Formats: sequence, C-alpha cells, structure tokens
Amino acid sequence: MSSPLLDVQNLQTEFYTSAGVIRAVRGISFSVDRGETVGLVGESGSGKSVTSLSLMRLIPSPPGKISGGKIILDGQDVLALPEREMRKLRGETVSMIFQDPFSSLNPTMTLGEQVMEAIRAHKSVSKAEAKNQTIELFKAVRIPSPEIRMKQYPHQISGGQRQRVMIAMAFSSNPSMLIADEPTTALDVTVQAQIMSLMQDFQKRNNAAILLITHDLGVVAEICDKVLVMYAGQIVEQSTVEQIFNSPKHPYTIGLLESLPQMSAHRARLISIPGQPPDLGKLTGGCPFASRCTKVMDVCLTNEPGATEVAPGQFVRCHLYGP
Ligand code: SF4
Repeated sequence: MSSPLLDVQNLQTEFYTSAGVIRAVRGISFSVDRGETVGLVGESGSGKSVTSLSLMRLIPSPPGKISGGKIILDGQDVLALPEREMRKLRGETVSMIFQDPFSSLNPTMTLGEQVMEAIRAHKSVSKAEAKNQTIELFKAVRIPSPEIRMKQYPHQISGGQRQRVMIAMAFSSNPSMLIADEPTTALDVTVQAQIMSLMQDFQKRNNAAILLITHDLGVVAEICDKVLVMYAGQIVEQSTVEQIFNSPKHPYTIGLLESLPQMSAHRARLISIPGQPPDLGKLTGGCPFASRCTKVMDVCLTNEPGATEVAPGQFVRCHLYGP
C-alpha cells in the first residue's frame, strides 16, 4: 500500500496569551490520500482553521506555536523544513483557498498581476508566458472575458468572481493538495455549487487531495470520502462519509446531524445543540462535551475519553464506546 499524501500524527498547537495557554489543537492524527476528499467539520472555535494553518506552518508566532506532533506531506517532514523549503512546498505541493477572497487579494494590484505573480513565484516563465497561463487559468475557473478581468481590481468584481480568482491562483502551480477553508461560506448557493465543482474537476485532472474545512454537512455529504469531526481541539469522530451519515456514533456528531434542516420533516424550529463549546484555556480533566451531552455519565466528568475503533475505519472519542 502506498503511503498517504498527508500524514498527521498527534499534532498539537497552542497559543500563549495573557489569559493563559489556549490548547487549540490537542493531539490530532489523520491522513489524506491522493485523489481523496476529506471533510473537517465542527463548530466555530473547534480547531479546524488552526489545524489548516498548522499544516501550512502559518500559525502566527508569537503567540502561537506548534508544540508537538508530526506532519508528513508528500514525504517531507513539514515541521523540520527550513522556511525557504517551506515556501516552496506552499504553492508547489499544497495550496490554500481561504474563506474571504477579498482580504486575501491585494486591493492595489490588478487580478492579472496577482495571478501572474503567483505563477512566477513557482515557475521560471517569462511575463508573456505567465500572462498566457493566467488567461488559461481564468478560462478554467470560468471567469468570463479573461483579458478584460485581468486588468480589473478586486473591488470591481463580485464575491463569486473573487473566489474564482483565488482558486485560479491556488491551481496555478498544479499542487498535489488543496486545503480549502470554508471556501464557499460567503457565496450564494448556486455559486457555491459551481466553486465546489471547479475544485472537483481540478482534483480529477490532477489526482489531487482536498482537505475541506466546513461547517456545512450538506457539502460534506456531496463531495467527501472521509469525515473528521472536530470538537474542543480534538477529532472526536473519524469515519467514511457513509458511516457518518448512516451510523454516527459520537453524541456531538449526532447533534450536528440532527441540527441539519430536513426537507421531509415539518419542524416548527431547527434543533440545535444546547450550550457552548468549552473555553480551551480552561479545560478540566473530563470529556469536553460533557456539559452539552444528553448521554453524560459520571466517568465523563473526570476522565477524558481516548479514541476507540467502533467499526473498520470509524474512530470515536466517547466513553459510551470505550473499554
Ligand atoms: Fe457524552 Fe460522555 Fe461520550 Fe462525552 S464521553 S460524549 S459526555 S457520553
């Protein structure tokens, strides 16, 4: 069996603040294969975005620090690479698509200049060749009139078009992996579907892996192979997409699924998980979900559960399934 494209072992990321140490990512392990789409889901503050920034080694330091674990990407030890090599890896091997294209694009440069700059940062091509490649990329991400758009600035186009420009930049070096952090949250539903389909087309052409960070389980059901459910800095359930939707195990996963709007159900109100996620600077020893869990037991208040394999490939952190 070939090794995964991305292998994360016991990753830990902390922030040292005046209020104490915030343990944002607490020992997570997972892998992503070539051609695979993995969804990372959970509420805001669960550690999803800190995980993606850790993978790219983009945690602001100080106050943040990757304090432990291993990240192997395409055979390279990410945490041991010199910054120069790391810059090469970002872009050439892995590209990131952020939630807010407006703040990720430079407002003082034209769209064409920005994509050309991204191309020339990773390939030694002439300006004319970079321009041709930019036009082709704009066509690939279905930006109409690419020659005209190239001369425009970010504020002159719509949010959907800006996200397409970001995606064109992410595709420009043919990376083996895309990390997409809530790439469609700010967009309307039809544009969301178009953006997801662009990413899937790219994946098919390049056998690329996608790590999709989202709170939208509907998108996960449509495009993911595997799902990682994050809560309080840990992966509390890890499984195939079929397992998560047909046989969810962790009470938090079940709560997330129950809070999805159902076409068939005539509910007066949407169900939500009561309470708030815990303060990651003040975790006690028990299960971090205990104060919100309908199945809580005495042991949950004092002992944090470890991961148990409940079915082939399905891992759950919950005392209901532990030894
Ligand atoms: Fe609920 Fe206990 Fe399982 Fe935590 S360990 S999710 S509190 S049953």
